Amino acid sequence: MHTQLSHVTDWVFDLDNTLYRADANFFKQIDVKMTDFIARYLSLESEAASLLRKEYWAEYGTTLSGLMAVHDMDPAEFLDYVHDVDLDILRPDPMMRAQIKALPGRKLIYTNGSKGHARNVAGHLNLFDLFDGSFGIEDANYIPKPKRETYEIFNRVFDVDPTKAIFFEDNVFNLEVPKAMGMVTVLVTSDADFSDAPEVVRPSGQTTTAHWVDFTTSDLPKWLSDHAG
Ligand SMILES: [Mg+2]
Repeated sequence: MHTQLSHVTDWVFDLDNTLYRADANFFKQIDVKMTDFIARYLSLESEAASLLRKEYWAEYGTTLSGLMAVHDMDPAEFLDYVHDVDLDILRPDPMMRAQIKALPGRKLIYTNGSKGHARNVAGHLNLFDLFDGSFGIEDANYIPKPKRETYEIFNRVFDVDPTKAIFFEDNVFNLEVPKAMGMVTVLVTSDADFSDAPEVVRPSGQTTTAHWVDFTTSDLPKWLSDHAG
């Protein structure tokens, strides 16, 4: 065990592009479905839907938050639709399983997606049974990372002492609050090409480093083996 981690009792993992190697094709499916949903829900052309999404992203943090705030939309309908994606693109990684399984302490999933999405994806990856709990956007009153309030709810729900926790994420902005709360932060980067994805949903990890990031890795199982083993 790395000395910087010997105090850690809670291991907190983002889901998408963190618990599996970022796959631009998988990511794109959710992206396309979000734009589709808006186009259908508001009877817009897909270009207009795409623009509106960008506005909601900037103003409300996520597409979902904007739709709820402006159109009083039922979030369950949106989440079911956008998370209905082809999981076969994602391959279970035995190394990931072995390394997470070996971690001492609690393991938790914390996603801006739904709880059902966490169960589907982590289940498909043969990882879900290793976790002591999962926290989805519905558990956070639909307040997404990186808003501080959602992390406070998470800590309360799971009784997490942030000074004894570590947070793994592919989105660098989602690590700023955890660091300020006292968590160790690990940015998971990737070589996947997201240049075709709209900037509102592009993972920011691969190009940015920030003072609130303690560690950066492009190979999470190896990092766990080197630091937590
Ligand atoms: Mg992610």
